[in-house]
Order: sequence, then structure tokens, then C-alpha cells
Amino acid sequence: MTYQLPEKLKKLEAYQPISGDYKVRLDANESFLSLPDEIRHEISVGISRIAFNRYPDPYAVELCQSFSRYFQVPADLIVAGNGSDELLFLLTTCFASAGDTLMTVKPDFSMYRVYGEMAGLQVEVFEKDCDLSLDADVFIAAAKEKNVNMVIFSNPCNPSSLLLSKEDVLKIVAGLEDVLVVVDEAYMEFAEGSVLQEIENYPNLMVLKTFSKAFGLAAARLGFAVSNKTIIDALKAAKSPYNVNTMSQVVGTILLEHPAYLEECTLLIKESRDYLFGMLQAMAGSFPQIQSIQNTRSNFVYMKVDGAADIYRALQQQGIAIRLMGDYLRICAGSEDENEALLAALQAYLKGAEVCAVQK
Ligand SMILES: *Cc1c(COP(=O)(O)O)cnc(C)c1O
Repeated sequence: MTYQLPEKLKKLEAYQPISGDYKVRLDANESFLSLPDEIRHEISVGISRIAFNRYPDPYAVELCQSFSRYFQVPADLIVAGNGSDELLFLLTTCFASAGDTLMTVKPDFSMYRVYGEMAGLQVEVFEKDCDLSLDADVFIAAAKEKNVNMVIFSNPCNPSSLLLSKEDVLKIVAGLEDVLVVVDEAYMEFAEGSVLQEIENYPNLMVLKTFSKAFGLAAARLGFAVSNKTIIDALKAAKSPYNVNTMSQVVGTILLEHPAYLEECTLLIKESRDYLFGMLQAMAGSFPQIQSIQNTRSNFVYMKVDGAADIYRALQQQGIAIRLMGDYLRICAGSEDENEALLAALQAYLKGAEVCAVQK
């Protein structure tokens, strides 16, 4: 007998980020702002002083202290990860046993299900209403009925861009007291409704944060888990010792020394998002192909369009990358130039499609 991959890996497909040359990248929800020279300089000085022959600080103490000051949560309730993706993988692997049940919602971040399946968990998917909203009471009842051990969802949601109120999130946490409730707040900088400050009030709540979106640090791979002491101590014990490299620890710590800059970035991204949302809404008035646009609380716009796949490909051919998700398009807010390029290409495409329809 030759070696055979386990069944769970045979059917697994690798995450396929788009490849190729795009002049406009609005597909990955990254920040369109690049670090200013002043901060880059501080980073290069910081990196030049690293003891490269030594392993990183296993608990990223300095970074977690900076995080603690910025987000006003106790430093001993924070674990840093190699992106929140690493933390999600750890959570599904270590905070549930094979055969336990994880509940995710749909639509939501697709990696929750992937990590859950890799960990040997039973994954139950809670379908959101057709307007993409989620009723907390219905969700709690469904989770109880399925006897779930863990639930994970993003808030604001990727991809729907909608926000669940703080009251609803806490209702879920309180309503499922024997379930670990993981709230992925990757986009909460763009919204209001964080439960981060509630972390000490519940025995079953975990909040995930990332520096990849509002903070514009996707390259550094920095994510954070915040929870109560019992859960955080267990996570510290379960993670690999040197999971966050020293370069990223330095970069993250330096960035957090610039809170005014981070506020400014968030503001600029929100402005860009509001502009993009407004322009697309106006376009929807002229082109009935655009069926709906969600009221975004993130840094991207999610809209349902007839012929979404055709639009996606047409934009791709013009060097504009967005994300296709079934009948929906997810478009990240970009720089002024990027937004204009996207809007012009989309409008031209929709006009062309109209002409074709008339000619037929
Ligand atoms: C982008 C994203 C992440 C990934 O964060 P990393 O820290 O870059 O791994 C996690 N959750 C959601 C909902 C995201 O959209």
C-alpha cells in the first residue's frame, strides 16, 4: 500500500488568491494606504536592532502591552498570532475535540469552515435570511438544537458588510453559555459595536482582531485573540512557542505608537467606502442589473448584480481585481484613482450590456 492522503485533505482546495498583474486591487479588503516614510524609517531602525540569532519573544509582551494601551484591554488577556488566521486554526483545533460541532453562518468568512473541518469538527452552517440579516434568537435556538460547542462569526460580516448590534452579540454570548463564542472583529474599526470591553464579563467570549485591514499591515501577519484569563492561558499553552516573528512584533509595536495616524487611516478608508457606496447606489438607479447593495459598515461594498461573473471577468481584463461570490460582487474601497477606475469600468460595462440587450 502506498501512502494515501486523509479524506479531509483529498477534497481540500488551496486558497486561490488572484494572481497576475492588476493595476487596481480591490479584491482582498486590504487598506489602500501605504505606510508614511516617517514610520517606515522607525521600522527600519527597529528591525536593524533585532538580535536575529535569537528566537522571538514567545508571548510578544511588548506588542501585547501596546495593544493593551491602544484597545484598553488588560495585557494578560491578549495572545498575538501570525494573522488571525493562525488563531482561528488554533481555536478550532485546540478548543474543541474531534467530533464536536462548530456552527458558522452563511455567508461569512470561508476559512472558519475549512479550519473546522481540518480539526475534525462537525460543521453546521446557519443560513442568514435572504436580506443577509441574522436574528439572534433564531440563531441561539438553532445552535442549541444542534448542540454546538463553538460558534464563529465575523462582525461586521465579511462578505455581507453588515453589522450585528452589540446587544445582539451579547445576547448570543449569554444565550449560549456553554458554547465558546468567537467574534471576529476584523472590520470593527469601521463600525461601532465592539464587544472587546465586555471580555471580562463572560466566561465564553473571545474576540479576534487583525492588523491586516484598517491598520494596513497585511504584510506583517498580525492577529490577536482577546478573552478571559482561563481561555487566554490555555491558548498560550496550546500555541507554538514562537508563532509571531520578531520583525512583525517590532512593526506592530511601532505602528501602535502612532494612534493619531491609525485614526486618520480609518477615517480616510471610511470616507472612501462611503463615496464608493454612494456612487454605486446612484449607479443602481440607472442600471436595473444592480439588484441590491448592502448598507456597508466595513471597508468594502457587497452588491447583488445580474451577470456578476461576466462583470467580474470584464473588469479583470481591464486590470481591475474585485471579488466574485456567486451572484454578488465584493468591492473594497480604494484610493481616489482606484475608485474612479472601478466606477468608470463598471459603468461602461453596464452601458454596453444595455446596448446589447436593446440590439437583441
Ligand atoms: C481578512 C480577514 C481575516 C484575516 O485576518 P489575518 O489577520 O490577515 O489572518 C480574518 N477574518 C476576517 C473576517 C477577515 O475578513
